[in-house]
Amino acid sequence: MTLKTREQYIQSLRNCKKRVFLFGEEVENYVDHPLIRPSLNAVAMTYELAQRPETGGLLTADSNLTGERVNRFTHLHQSTSDLVEKIKMQRLLGQCTACCFQRCAGMDSLNALDAVTAHMDQELGTPYHQRFRQYLRHVQEEDLVVGGAMTDSKGDRSLRPAEQADPDMFVRIIHKDEGGIVIRGAKLHQTGAINAHELLVMPTRALRPEESAYAVACAVPADAPGILYIYGRQASDTRKLEGGRVDVGNAEFGGHEAVIIFDDVYVPWEWVFMCGETAFAGELVEWFAAHHRASYGGCKVGVGDVLIGATQAIARVQGVENASHIKDKIVEMIHLNETLYACGIAASTEGAPSPSGSYLVNRLLANVTKLNVTRLPYQIASLAQDIAGGLLGTLPSEKDFNHPEIGPLLEKYLASSARYPTRWRQHLLRLIENLTVGAGAVGYLVESMHGAGSPMAQRIMLARLAGLEEKEQMALKIAGLAEEPAPVHGG
Ligand code: SF4
Ligand code: FE
Repeated sequence: MTLKTREQYIQSLRNCKKRVFLFGEEVENYVDHPLIRPSLNAVAMTYELAQRPETGGLLTADSNLTGERVNRFTHLHQSTSDLVEKIKMQRLLGQCTACCFQRCAGMDSLNALDAVTAHMDQELGTPYHQRFRQYLRHVQEEDLVVGGAMTDSKGDRSLRPAEQADPDMFVRIIHKDEGGIVIRGAKLHQTGAINAHELLVMPTRALRPEESAYAVACAVPADAPGILYIYGRQASDTRKLEGGRVDVGNAEFGGHEAVIIFDDVYVPWEWVFMCGETAFAGELVEWFAAHHRASYGGCKVGVGDVLIGATQAIARVQGVENASHIKDKIVEMIHLNETLYACGIAASTEGAPSPSGSYLVNRLLANVTKLNVTRLPYQIASLAQDIAGGLLGTLPSEKDFNHPEIGPLLEKYLASSARYPTRWRQHLLRLIENLTVGAGAVGYLVESMHGAGSPMAQRIMLARLAGLEEKEQMALKIAGLAEEPAPVHGG
């Protein structure tokens, strides 16, 4: 089977017996848990849209490995057009779910590992690339969700991995034998981990030769013995347990992150793609980060489209849509949102082939994309809150609206434009609340700040990749200083 249906995906997760913890208890059935299910629904959209005739072309691609049509989330980008299609797919999914749909970290990890394993083999004569591609065939043929597991717990940030008081602060190899390796450690902030079939473990930073135990990249089934998941709670998450839908804001969809504990997990050699090659850890981190930073120029833009739409709608419902300052603020939101998209598209069209032949985004522009994503969604959210008005933070509950005595009073006194029922105002305010301060703001704002690396990580890459010396030479040439001897400092 190359393309799973939504139902087949959900059934396959039922067969994936993970150990999941939430609110201090082990969850028996994570697939149907009301707090987790919206995030599963969001991933399921990556299957559903692949099946629909009008979106299937965008959500699938011709595999260079199997020759079959595969879900684009498992595809190795074969051209800059593929990279652009990826951004368009992510925008579409953001529009359809208004949340993080969780499958991109895996796609970006697969593409980064494809390039880095080829590079490693070329430089070191290691056997990783063919092994990795064999694994990827399996992922494509089974249409699996892969969770890209990179961020270690890191302990004391002033200390390197091997200097930590507890050596498990970074995932490490604790044992090797002829059959495989055993890994121990934890990965934090793992997007969509509970909805994944597979985890792709990678180092979180550049490493030195003496840190070889930490240079590990490998795949593990998400329900392998020794793996535990602890669900990360989000603002207003228990609204999903109240039985209603309106107060949740986005009742159908949501993202999730989890802490993953690797409590001595065995990995056979056939799934090991880096084992001690410290010189390539930094490259893997950078190439994954570049792909994922560009991805945000698609997914966050799609969520931004929904927020802009909700803001325009609430302006209409509240009778202010024709005020010139409201129109101008909406235009500002559009400008900010499309700026992010332009960055994502540019990083993709400026992509180039990697050592494996699969395509990498332009790293400088990918970092510019993500640095903008650390700022512009916050500005868009601020404008949405400005236009929505204070009721965004003071609206009574859904249960009050449903109460026989006070419900009709709320309908009467919270009415706005006579063209729309009060219910519209209630629903739209809850959606904007979800995206700007509620559970949805984890994906739209906090993840925009820290996902794929916090802003300083992008600034470091900008300084490294921008070609500052070349720019200086350009200026010196124009200024007529290029032929002069270099200035002497000091004295
Ligand atoms: Fe995909 Fe965006 Fe979620 Fe990352 S944050 S997994 S790019 S939807
Ligand atoms: Fe992310």
